[in-house]
Amino acid sequence: MAQNETVDVVLVGAGIMSATLAVLLKELDPALKLEVVELMDSGAAESSNPWNNAGTGHAGLCELNYTPQAADGSIDIKKAVHINAQFEVSRQFWAYLSKKGAFPSPRAFINPVPHLSYVEGDKGVSFLKKRFEMLKQHHAFSEMEYTEDKSVMSQWMPLMMPGRPADQAIAATRVMKGTDVNFGALTNKLLKHLGNAPDAQVKYCKKVTNLRRNGSGWTVSIKDVNSGSSREVDARFVFLGAGGAALPLLQLSGIEESKGFGGFPVSGQWLRCDNPEVVKHHQAKVYSQAAVGSPPMSVPHLDTRVVDGKTSLLFGPYAGFTTKFLKHGSFLDLPLSVRMGNIGPMLAVARDNMDLTKYLVSEVMQSMEQRLDSLRRFYPEAKAEDWRLEVAGQRVQIIKKDPKKGGILQFGTELVAAKDGSLAALLGASPGASVTVSIMLDLIERCFPEQAKGAWAAKLKEIFPAREKVLEADAALYHKISAYNDEALGLVENSPAQNYA
Ligand SMILES: Cc1cc2nc3c(=O)[nH]c(=O)nc-3n(C[C@H](O)[C@H](O)[C@H](O)COP(=O)(O)OP(=O)(O)OC[C@H]3O[C@@H](n4cnc5c(N)ncnc54)[C@H](O)[C@@H]3O)c2cc1C
Repeated sequence: MAQNETVDVVLVGAGIMSATLAVLLKELDPALKLEVVELMDSGAAESSNPWNNAGTGHAGLCELNYTPQAADGSIDIKKAVHINAQFEVSRQFWAYLSKKGAFPSPRAFINPVPHLSYVEGDKGVSFLKKRFEMLKQHHAFSEMEYTEDKSVMSQWMPLMMPGRPADQAIAATRVMKGTDVNFGALTNKLLKHLGNAPDAQVKYCKKVTNLRRNGSGWTVSIKDVNSGSSREVDARFVFLGAGGAALPLLQLSGIEESKGFGGFPVSGQWLRCDNPEVVKHHQAKVYSQAAVGSPPMSVPHLDTRVVDGKTSLLFGPYAGFTTKFLKHGSFLDLPLSVRMGNIGPMLAVARDNMDLTKYLVSEVMQSMEQRLDSLRRFYPEAKAEDWRLEVAGQRVQIIKKDPKKGGILQFGTELVAAKDGSLAALLGASPGASVTVSIMLDLIERCFPEQAKGAWAAKLKEIFPAREKVLEADAALYHKISAYNDEALGLVENSPAQNYA
């Protein structure tokens, strides 16, 4: 019998996660033999595609759900500070690759777009003011501005002001150094860079159909989706970067750590506008508060998007329900993921999240006119003919065991790794792409601990002169690194206004 091909690492899926990990591993050890396996005919065909996500470079600058308010009125800013540091870690990697010549024009994937938070009503205004006063004291947010002055807001968000009641209490914060990121363009640039390296292959139209233990590594079964033929590859390490489909693959692996996990798919839709006469009046990402009782992924925002050199506006997301784990997936994905080990947590989540079910049903039932009404809360003079509905990517929220409740629904991401470090999977959705590099560094520390502390330590220090904890605490170093990244990514002299003129 013919011997299986042997590689060091197989990465399943060609989204932002696998592309980042593959390039990072090649930087740390150029001799590694890698294979990225993707079932579609190009990279970034699922959630990492620019029209399947909002392209916000999440840095905690505008997302109000990252600074939750407790019942006593206090505001916790820890999550916003941490995500800001994680985004700066991503920017360090992109800046390093840019300086190396891997990205000749980083503006093809990252552009300056101010990040604004916007609130209505006395309660919202008092929350935003308090939040501003707390964040402003931290060095990462020192440039944040606050206003209740409508004439200032007319300059910050001119599309959103006409047509509002004169007595409406509103307030906004703004940070000029926010960004829009085309994660699809970034993924494809990373894959192209990887393809230029020796012993690194990206194979399209190939589906990973099985995983079995093979000594200390894995045998991966790969099917050609066009011809139907199959081959097997032996790998020392496997990364399941299959987005929503990572859960069924993790279940196929059978590792102990996979037991008890389930997935709850939430689909999404946007309203999109490409009319240049409308688009030119809004150069910002404006995030507001989710309706009371609705989940974090329902936070409404009106975003400038920069995709392939053109600017558009995106509003949403409107959530929906489907049983598919990928946008191009199968309706059987959810039922086939039910196992003896996760049925308990899944039923507990169904029992405890009736509000979410009701919310999703109400979102699915919305008419176009109702969707436009939500948009008009942001942009009162929006005209129906300027907007069309687009389908967003799938988010498979994590269901996991909980000793008290039986099962809980988790809205973040979670890296699940085998105890021996031979396999890891990324589950969940948010904040996702923006913090990919931090997630992959965590993977490297957990699955390659000896190399991370030994042979790879100097290179890691060179690429990442400051990690999250240091960036959170050291103001001078934070500003130095942030300024270096701005310069390397071409974000310095062009103001956002000049970009879109
Ligand atoms: C509506 C929405 C809005 C979002 N907004 C933002 C945002 O503003 N900012 C942000 O940072 N993040 C955002 N995210 C999250 C972000 O998009 C994801 O975290 C990120 O794209 C996930 O990347 P990935 O590589 O894990 O998965 P994906 O990009 O989904 O890639 C997975 C790949 O695996 C392939 N695959 C699956 N199964 C197999 C198999 N068996 N064999 C081979 N290949 C397989 C798929 O075809 C796909 O190409 C958003 C997500 C959604 C859905």
